[in-house]
Amino acid sequence: MAVNEEQYRKIRAELEGRATLVAVSKTKPEADIRALYALGQRDFGENYVQEVRDKQAVLPVDIRWHFIGHLQRNKVKDIAPFVHLIHGVDSDRLLKEINKQAAKCGRVIDCLLQVHIAQEETKFGLDEPELKAVVAAVLAEPEAYAHIRLCGLMGMASHSDDAAKVGEEFVALKGLFDGVVAEYTLPAFKYLSMGMSGDYAMAVAAGSNMVRIGSLLFGARDYPQVG
Ligand SMILES: *Cc1c(COP(=O)(O)O)cnc(C)c1O
Repeated sequence: MAVNEEQYRKIRAELEGRATLVAVSKTKPEADIRALYALGQRDFGENYVQEVRDKQAVLPVDIRWHFIGHLQRNKVKDIAPFVHLIHGVDSDRLLKEINKQAAKCGRVIDCLLQVHIAQEETKFGLDEPELKAVVAAVLAEPEAYAHIRLCGLMGMASHSDDAAKVGEEFVALKGLFDGVVAEYTLPAFKYLSMGMSGDYAMAVAAGSNMVRIGSLLFGARDYPQVG
């Protein structure tokens, strides 16, 4: 399956100066990643720990690997040496484990806190009080979190054809993001990761500055996503 080069150029042009494009390459072969890489793409998103490890081992070292899936604590050590940004941090316990593994690697790992914005029950993420509790915990004890950096928020809208509902969810997340920026002193807190193939234009209109796009670039995935 070849990558859609025309679509890639179109999306890059649309996002220029507004949002970082994370090309979501989960389930896709190395050849597809190399094809986008050859066009200048450097940010790639993966959901599965084993898969990103395998790809990272053989693909160019200047690729920035974004982990966008649900991350289990016992797998953090497998991506800690190389991961560029972890999008789906949804608990203080996970943040502490990332900090611990980052310390072992002598790194500081950038993290986004995942917020639950969809009405669906199945999506992971923090609600507003939980989000504020995690931020407050990090600020209260900076030395305990010296190896992580809170860089923003991530969210997934409802999987729905109801554009008004999806749009409202994005606007709500942008509101939360602005609220955190206003309330806390977090110098690196600048990314709002929201928007996928089906809804990225609405997400960017609502204030997203990082979108995660897979199927529009790489075609439909061969097997269903889990997690
Ligand atoms: C798979 C996935 C994407 C990309 O989805 P597309 O609809 O293929 O663009 C974005 N974000 C997350 C968290 C994903 O799991």
